[in-house]
Formats: sequence, C-alpha cells, structure tokens
Amino acid sequence: MIAEVIVDVANSEVDKIFDYIAIPDVSIGDRVLVPFGRRTIEGYVINLKDKSDLPKDKLKSLISIIDDYPILLPELLDLSYDMITRNHLRFIDCLRLMVPTQLRTKHMSPIYIAYLKIDDNYNPDEHIVNIRANAKLRRDMLLYIEAGKEYLRSELNKHFGRNNVEKLLSIGIATMITKHKIRKPNSIVLENKFIQLNDEQRQIVESVLCNPDKPHLVFGVTGSGKTEVYMNIIDNVIKQGKSAIMLVPEISLTPQMMGVFVARFGDNVAMLHSGLSDGERFDEWQRIRSGDAKIVIGARSAIFAPLTNIGAIILDEEHDSSYKSESNPRFLTHDVAKFRAQYNKCPLVLGSATPSLDSFQCAMKGEYVLHELTTRANKKAMPNISVVDMCKELHNGNTNMFSRQLLEELHKCIEENNQAMLFLNRRGFSSYVICKECGYVAKCSDCDVSLVYHKEDNQLKCHYCNKRYKALDACPQCHSTYIRMGAIGTQRVVEELQSIFPKVKILRMDNDTTQTKDSLVNILDEFSRTKPCILVGTQMIAKGHDFPDVTVVGIVDADMSLHFSDYRAVERTFQLITQVAGRAGRSSKAGKVILQTYTPKHYVYKYIKDYDYKGFFDKEINLREVTQFPPFAKIIRILISGESDELTYSVAIKIFDDLKNIRMRLDKDFIYFALMRSPVSRIQNKYRYQVLMRIKIDNSSSILDEIYHVVNRHQNAKTQIFVEQNPANMS
Ligand code: ADP
Ligand code: ZN
Ligand code: ZN
Repeated sequence: MIAEVIVDVANSEVDKIFDYIAIPDVSIGDRVLVPFGRRTIEGYVINLKDKSDLPKDKLKSLISIIDDYPILLPELLDLSYDMITRNHLRFIDCLRLMVPTQLRTKHMSPIYIAYLKIDDNYNPDEHIVNIRANAKLRRDMLLYIEAGKEYLRSELNKHFGRNNVEKLLSIGIATMITKHKIRKPNSIVLENKFIQLNDEQRQIVESVLCNPDKPHLVFGVTGSGKTEVYMNIIDNVIKQGKSAIMLVPEISLTPQMMGVFVARFGDNVAMLHSGLSDGERFDEWQRIRSGDAKIVIGARSAIFAPLTNIGAIILDEEHDSSYKSESNPRFLTHDVAKFRAQYNKCPLVLGSATPSLDSFQCAMKGEYVLHELTTRANKKAMPNISVVDMCKELHNGNTNMFSRQLLEELHKCIEENNQAMLFLNRRGFSSYVICKECGYVAKCSDCDVSLVYHKEDNQLKCHYCNKRYKALDACPQCHSTYIRMGAIGTQRVVEELQSIFPKVKILRMDNDTTQTKDSLVNILDEFSRTKPCILVGTQMIAKGHDFPDVTVVGIVDADMSLHFSDYRAVERTFQLITQVAGRAGRSSKAGKVILQTYTPKHYVYKYIKDYDYKGFFDKEINLREVTQFPPFAKIIRILISGESDELTYSVAIKIFDDLKNIRMRLDKDFIYFALMRSPVSRIQNKYRYQVLMRIKIDNSSSILDEIYHVVNRHQNAKTQIFVEQNPANMS
C-alpha cells in the first residue's frame, strides 16, 4: 500500500503530494510522522493507493501514526479539495484550517488529574495505634480521610505531605485513580428562559427543518427573536440525534450570547473563538471530534469544526465582513457553509436584520428561501431616529462635536437615571476629506468612491483606479477652509463628555481598552450595574448586547463609514447604524437615536430613519448595476509583494503582460484593467504592486481560472502573490 501525504512544513512553499510506503493500520485522514530530507516531520494521509509512479527504491516508509483516530474527517478532506479548486488554495493551508494550531505546533496534551480512593473497609482505629506519637501530620491524615471516599491527590499532598500520602498507597489503604480533566471556557451563568415562539417564528422553524435543499435567509429586525428561532432549530436537530454549527461574528460572541446557549443546551455546547486559551481550545476541539459536544458555537473558523452528521448550519449576522477571510488562506464562510450543508443534506440558515446585498439579491432571484420577522418580539416600536445636520450646528455657532439635540437628550437621560451609548465607527476608518461648512466630500471623478488622504505624499488617492488628486486647502464647492481630514477618536469623545458631565460615569470600549482577556466582560458588567452611565465605543457596542435601561443612542459621526473608500461603504453604513440603533429601547422604556452627520441629504439616511431595508436595497442594487460594481461585476486584485522593489515590479509586469492577452481576447468582459503600485506601497519592508481588474460577472469564473493559471506560472520564492476577489481592504 502507498500513502499519499501532505507534509506540514512551516513557512514553506512545498505544496505537493508525496508518496510513502504505508504501515499497518494507517487510514485516510491520519496524522503521521514521515522522513523528509534529513528530518522527521508531520504530515496528513490524504489517500491510500496500490501503486506509486516512483520506483520502489525511491520510496520511504511512514514512521508512525500520531493520534488514536484520524484527525481529518472524510467530509473535511472533500471540503479541502473543493476549496483548492474554487479558491486555488494550497492543500496544506486548507488542512491547517481544519486542525487546531494547538495540536499541530504546540503538542498539547490532555490533562490528567490524580485522585486517591480510600478503601471501603478502612478503619482509622486500626492504623492509628501503629504510628509514632510525634507523627502528628500522619495522625491527622488518618483521622481526616474516610472509607470509600475520593480525594484530590494534590490537596492531600498539600495538607499532609507527599511522603505521608505515598504511605497510604504503599500500605494499601488507598488506590490511585486518574481522570481526564477538561479545560472549559468560562461563561456567565444564565437561567434558561422558556419562550413560546410566536407564529412568525414557528413557521420559519418548520419551513427550515423540512426544506434542506435551498439556503434560507431570515430577515428580521433587531430584537425580533432570531436567536430564539436558531435555538429552536438546533433543539429539533439535536433531538433527531444530529449536530449543529452556529456561527456569529467574533465581536458579537459576547459572554451573554454564550451564556444563553449554555443555559439551554448545557455541556452539549462547545465554543471556538479567539478568547480561549490554548488548552481550552484543544479540549473543546477534542470534545467535538469525539462526539461529546454536538453543538458548536463560534466565529468564522468554527465552520471547520470536526462534527459528523450535521443537521443544521446557521450564520447569524450573515452580512458581517468578518465572514470573509482576507488573509491567507482566503475564503468566504458562506461558500464553506454551503458545501457542508450540501454534504450533510441539511438546511443552511443565514440571518440578519440587514442582509448583505448579495444574499438579499439571491433571495429575490429565488435562489434562497426568504423569511421575514417584521416586529420586535416585545411588540415595541423601533426607536425613533433623528438626523442632525452638523453643518447647521456650525453655522449656529456650535463648534462642539455634540449637537445641541444630542446634549439635550443626554441631559434628560441622566436626569431620569437611565443609560446612553455613544457610537463612533472606527472600522473602515480612513482619512476621508470633508468640508465642515457644506458637507462636500472629495470623490474620484471616475469611480464615485471617496478619496483617501495620504499624509506621506500629501495627496488624495482613489483606491479603485489609482488616480491622484491634490490635497485640498479650500472647499471647491463653497471655498470654506473648514476642511477636516479623518475622524475623531473615542478617547477625545470621552474627555469632552466628562467635561460636560463631570459627575457621570463614562466608560469606553474599543480596541485599546479591551486588550486583556476579561476586560470586555468587565466593562459590560460595570455598565450593566451603573446608572446613570454613558458607554462610548466603536462597533464593539453595536452588536448582541441587550441592556434594558439604554434610552439614548448617539451616533457621533455617521459619515465616518459612509465616506470610506469602498464601493460597499453605503451598504456598511446602513448595516452598522441600523445595528447600533437597535440597542435602544429594548425593554419597556422607549428609545431615541440621534444621528449626527455633515451630509444629512445623503439618501442612506432617509432609509435608515424609516427602517426601510427594502427601499434601500432597491436603490443600492440599482446603483451597483449602473456603476458596474459587485454583484454585477467582480473586482479582482492580484497583490504582488516582495523585499526587492525591482524584482517585485518585474514579476508584476510579467503577470500583467500575460493577462493582457486574456484581456485582448475578452475585451468586452473587462471594465477596468491596470497595473500600479498598491495604495500603501510598502508594508513591513515589502514593496507592493497590484494588478487591478473589474470584470463582468457572467464570464467571471472562467476568467478567474485563467488568472489563477497565469499567477501560478509566476509563483517564485522571492515574492508573494495573492489573488483577491472583491477584497474589503484595498490598501
Ligand atoms: P434578535 O436576535 O432578532 O435581535 P433575540 O432573539 O435576541 O432577537 O430576541 C430579543 C428579545 O426578545 C430577547 O430578550 C428574547 O428573549 C425575546 N423573545 C424572542 N422571542 C420571543 C417570543 N416569541 N416571545 C417573547 N419574547 C421573545
Ligand atoms: Zn464646502
Ligand atoms: Zn477612481
């Protein structure tokens, strides 16, 4: 027998299948040790066959099998093949997604704990008579232990000394037992609420369970009870003896969210997210692989969880950009989820209050089954949103970052002993340029996306076509010199607020204040206990939190994500602000949202204010069609980086020249095609070039194949080349 092996060499470009002579008992999916050059390294058996094309004397033999069971399930191997062809990934990069790093590199092992079990017939009187009068500790120990009981050996050691404890074993009073200890992630303990589903919710659950053939899109306003729907689906699936995966964006994987699931499903839940320690992650993975845990909750990478017999896969907040992996290996979680749902013939559920345009478009075309939840579960109206014109504030002499209306609402909120949240969007933050007098925003004349200010060369650049513009001294529209580049930060907001409300507790939640493991929980916990209180934060405060006393939500600078240089900027703004607004008025108290902007006439604010997702969708999808952006076109960026500027450029040129032929042949499919330095031309001492293309969607998959083909021909050891599709980050 011959085993085909993918070797796991760190940082290497080796992406080949090697043949080895098999050893007894080896099976597909096993992790094995193999000789490789002069070293011994790990690899994965991906296939067994009768014969190799290599002569027998060239073949070496596997050394040993590492684990008690195959690490890779057949399904996940099939998935790897699919990802390799779809996204042109390297085999080993796919396999690394499926095997936890802790297992691969750190050689974690399970923890075993020793206990002593005292003999059932133990009688202290028999033993005490035999010991010396000055052996006080031993005497205490003999009096302490009781027949038939178990004690932690380390505890006994601590109190009575190792020698005395050893003696218990040697004279046969006790026997040692070891138990496997599971490192479990902390979660807050919540009570399991029993909730009767309403009719809308029940219909969704039924439809999902009996129709596994098409993906389901659950479009439900914030607070409409989507989580409850998910839990019901999972409950049904578990009762059929199957398993389930539930994915949420990393930042909404809050302690509260996890607490709700543990309260309902107990030990059947395993969690995979970045807050786990190595040991916890390892043990959670083992619990899933062994079948002890049948429900996996986690962020993006949990889609690779080693579950078998999956009965449902759920992606909550399906529009979230974290579902797209933007570093190597690049993939879209939706694609992986679709593959696994088809493999298991189980339903896939995508849920959101603000679905991505792509997904909603699929629902409109009938490729997805659309379900709607139109009202909040508590039957309360959505909070009222007021749009405040910040240019007007300036004209009226208010140069402060807070409008008079926001301050008024904050004062009222504090007087009534309630809570407020102030939101500043830093995701997608970039140095856009805005006139504070008239709201003019500098845009590319060719692409209609906002320009980015580059400080190093004092220029404005378009990240979609590389056109450059002079930095502005005055506004071309109104000649004002009140030009602002970039945005304010959370820290400044807190300082200003504190000077206006010196006696009120103000908390800050952003990347800087949530570096340590428990800090996020601590801030949320303090907020929930403090009244009045104002929480200032980034998109971290946008999701998943349920605070009943929040009556005011302020969006300090709504434009921040709107003028981000990205064709999805408007879509993102709609999603983010709708999410943030959804934090207000979640209990019996009414909520109010104050949205501050320099461009109040922008169409997005009208739809946000009216909670009109469908109106927004129609408008935006039309625009995309007219301007030929996704989903009607595909943006492809080939990023070439390397330490030598010259060499990197020469590789880029060669790729570009080869692609020219394709472009010539298929000219009508290309909307844009150019080679340029990347907007950020050097990162970590590596020079960066890019071939940027926008192609029509119809023919895009065959063009992509050709592009990958060209790129693979130019792969070399001195440069890194990546192909990105519709990248979120164009820097
Ligand atoms: P979403 O995920 O859509 O934002 P949640 O599932 O978190 O909404 O539900 C919001 C609140 O409504 C929660 O407190 C939840 O317990 C409650 N809820 C959900 N469904 C019902 C129902 N059928 N009856 C009463 N309360 C419900
Ligand atoms: Zn102006
Ligand atoms: Zn442009």
